[in-house]
Amino acid sequence: MSFTEHNVNGLIYDTADGLSSAGGIRHAFTTRLGGVSPAPFDSLNFFERNGDTKENVIENYKLLGQATGLNMARAVGCRQIHSDLVRSIYAEDAGKILYDERPYDADAMLTDVPDVPLVAYSADCCTILLYDPTCRCVGAIHAGWKGTALGVALKALIAMMSAYGADPMTIHAAIGPSIGACCFETDSDVPDAIREELSESADRFIERRGGKYHVDLKQINRLWLLRGGLDPRNVEVHGDCTACRLDRYWSHRRLGARRGGQIAVIALEGGA
Ligand SMILES: [Zn+2]
Repeated sequence: MSFTEHNVNGLIYDTADGLSSAGGIRHAFTTRLGGVSPAPFDSLNFFERNGDTKENVIENYKLLGQATGLNMARAVGCRQIHSDLVRSIYAEDAGKILYDERPYDADAMLTDVPDVPLVAYSADCCTILLYDPTCRCVGAIHAGWKGTALGVALKALIAMMSAYGADPMTIHAAIGPSIGACCFETDSDVPDAIREELSESADRFIERRGGKYHVDLKQINRLWLLRGGLDPRNVEVHGDCTACRLDRYWSHRRLGARRGGQIAVIALEGGA
């Protein structure tokens, strides 16, 4: 299993083959290619707080909806705060948060309501999409290093099981493009926080180079998902590093604050 690139009139996004073949959902991991935003947000930008106009961002959502079939007018995003907060999304949340002030603090969202796209924003941080085709529920997670250390991915899985009766053996997960160990150089605070939760099982994903550390956030999030009982065959990890591939992605580490952002988005088909 791997990822497939889609190019719809120049708008480029990826899908995870495992999620696609499970059927019954639509999803996407966006790139920076194919939107309407001008430099330095050129061109497929989903961040509205870094200086791009709201009109451009809304148009980019519309273009993504046309390209993917996702009903982005009903999409939901939260104010991401690098936490392990998980929020259930209900029918009445549809659409009201995306173009609004995103009043809810959370870094993971879950729903069993069809046709409500869940949106996780990133520009280096991990994004993770979850889907249980048996009990019909989905999740979208934002996990920077703090969320990764806190195990937000496992907490979202546990919430999915308790709220919707999801079965870890039937859940599919995809970890999207994010900064790789090649470029995620840190001080000791990051590995210390991760080891505090995962102890030596995380060591093979933390490499010491001189006084610095290189940390593989994608693989550490995969570890959390496997701890939750997921079948390794059902966990896909995107190979791209956002900081290495500025031609294709937004990277906070490489571009600083005045840049765009990408999203991971997933919705159950049907309903409404
Ligand atoms: Zn890299």
